[in-house]
Formats: sequence, C-alpha cells, structure tokens
Amino acid sequence: MIKFLDLYKINERFRDEIDLRIKEVLDSGWYVLGEQNKRFTENFANFCGVKHCIGCANGLEALSLIIKAYGFGAGDEIMVPANTYIASILAISENGCTPVLVEPDINTYNINPDLVEEKITSKTKAIMVVHLYGQAVQMQKIQDLADKYNLKIIEDAAQAHGAKYFNKRTGSLGDAAGFSFYPGKNLGCMGDGGCVTTNDDELAEKIKAIANYGSDRKYHHIYKGVNSRLDEIQAAILDVKLKYLDSDNQRRRKIAKYYRENINNPLIILPQTYDEMSHVWHIFAIRTNKRDRLQQYLKENGIETNIHYPTPPHKQIAYKEWNSVNLPVTEKIHNEILSIPMSPVLTDSEVEKVVEVLNDWK
Ligand SMILES: *Cc1c(COP(=O)(O)O)cnc(C)c1O
Repeated sequence: MIKFLDLYKINERFRDEIDLRIKEVLDSGWYVLGEQNKRFTENFANFCGVKHCIGCANGLEALSLIIKAYGFGAGDEIMVPANTYIASILAISENGCTPVLVEPDINTYNINPDLVEEKITSKTKAIMVVHLYGQAVQMQKIQDLADKYNLKIIEDAAQAHGAKYFNKRTGSLGDAAGFSFYPGKNLGCMGDGGCVTTNDDELAEKIKAIANYGSDRKYHHIYKGVNSRLDEIQAAILDVKLKYLDSDNQRRRKIAKYYRENINNPLIILPQTYDEMSHVWHIFAIRTNKRDRLQQYLKENGIETNIHYPTPPHKQIAYKEWNSVNLPVTEKIHNEILSIPMSPVLTDSEVEKVVEVLNDWK
C-alpha cells in the first residue's frame, strides 16, 4: 500500500533531535510561552522574511486573531476564494464578518483576481488570499486592488510554508498571514499549532495580547481576548523541523516534476504551475471527470488518495444560507479533484508505481 501521507515516517527522521528538544522542555519546568516559543517564532519570522511571528493554537485561530486585531466585525465584508478549506471562511464568520465568496481560476485553483473588483463594496475591508495546495497566489493584481480600495490583504498560508511569489515567501506577501502547523502540513507539529506573521509592529503587539487573554502584562487586560497559544513542546518540535523544511519542499518539487513529466493519461488533467520553483506541493491534485472511479481503481491497486475537498463550503449544512448559490468553477473542481500521494518520504519506486498505475487507467 502506498500511503497518501506517512506521518510516522516523516517525523521518525528527526526522532533523536526531537527527543533532545522535548527533554529540554521537560527539564526547564516551563511549558507555555517560554524559551522554545521565542526561539521558534524568531526563526520562523526570519524564514518568512518578516519582523514578527506570534505563535497561536492553530491555523483557524491565526486567521481569526488577525481579523479580531484589525477590529473587523458585523457589517464588514471579507473576500475569500469559494474553493478553500472551510477554516478560511469560518475565521471570517466567527468574527461576525460576512465572507464574500470569489470563484477560483480553474488552472491554478487560487482566487481569480479578475473577479475580485466587481465584488468590492463600501463594506469591503479585506481580501483573504489562500495559497491553495502550496502555490502562492499571483499577488500583483490583488495588491493593486488593495491599494486602490484601501483594503487589507490577509494570507491563509496554511498549505504553503516556504512557497514564494518572486523572491518573497508566503507570510510576507500581505499585511498579515495565518499559518497552521497541523501534523499533515508541510511544517507540522505533533498536535495543533499555528502562527501569525506580519511586518506591522502595532498589529503584532495587539495579536500577542489578544491571544493571551487580551493581556499586555500579567493580570492587566486591555482587550477582551482569547486563549490561543503555541505550547513549548510543539514550538520545540517545529524548531527542529523548520531546519529541514526547504529540503523537504525541494523533494516534493522533484516528485511533482516527475509526476508532471511522466503522467500522460489523456483522461487526467495535471496541475499547472506558473513557477516551478515557488510551489511547495502540499497537495498534488489531479482532475478527471471520472474521479470516483479513478479513486476506486487506485485503491484496488494499492494507492491511497484523498479529496481536497469533496464538498465546497457553500454546499455545507453549516452555510445553509448559501446552499442554492451557484459557483460553477468551484463545484467543477470539487467534483473532479483527486489528491495523489505526495510527501518528502515517498521513495522513487513508489512515485514510479503511482505513475505507472495512473497511465494504465482506462
Ligand atoms: C489546515 C488549514 C487551515 C486550518 O488550520 P488548523 O490548524 O487545522 O486550524 C486553514 N486554512 C487552510 C487552507 C488549511 O489547509
């Protein structure tokens, strides 16, 4: 069986280093907001090329903290791609704001920048871009609109640790970014974790306080905050794994290149990338209009796959108010998309087997 994602194998490579760092935490007697958090967040800020990184509980919270810190709430509209993972949209509605769904580009699966301007109203406050599947959004048009209409750009970078747009990393492409360190992400911990990155000093201070009960110093509360922090053990694990993120992403790129050059079944549409070097291939998503049949066939041939995602947010029960909305591009993607195995620990022979089996499919 070729696993879709072998988390054990991914983390096993770093066992000795992780053991040592967890022991450090144990020995320190300090478990939340300590030295490990400081070390990791400084290193991750440097990695992204930004001034600030604030650890938090998870990716959804990271996005939500940004929206809270800007003070966006009821009556405010935030643009978001309709085909994203539901967490991007939950972060907006959780704060009482209105998510405005924008169709993606069928080739990149990222938000279609040409459809954003027509949806801007006097209530629009921000555009949330999602670097879906690990490919950075083409930011220039989004930046132009943000400048023209005085909007904030919030990046959902949960699938794109290390990806680049020209020479800039995700996390540095907008006003503030939310990352997730959920175990399966390109940089994943062993539980839940997340962070916000930004160059905005004031916003960083505010998020740090809001995430810690709205407190700027102990027992002094200036905001009605939340408790959303990255614990010391997770920060220690992430600090070890961060050192290997670029080489892991490079391995993913090599696998993606092999897939793209060797899968030649006319029934299958391969993902497109406008810049081979920037994509970090969190997910390698192929498309076919016989998706369920292909998934079954791969399973019978020992290849595990996944669907990101089977049902778009606007068709979920949680968003009943949108269930009859028509978003044809988003719906087409959700009906046809299939994620094949992708991870830095796939072996060459496993990758070759996947290609062989896909090319034999009729
Ligand atoms: C994983 C993910 C999130 C949420 O991150 P959690 O840490 O699971 O809360 C948000 N947006 C996208 C695009 C994701 O893939």
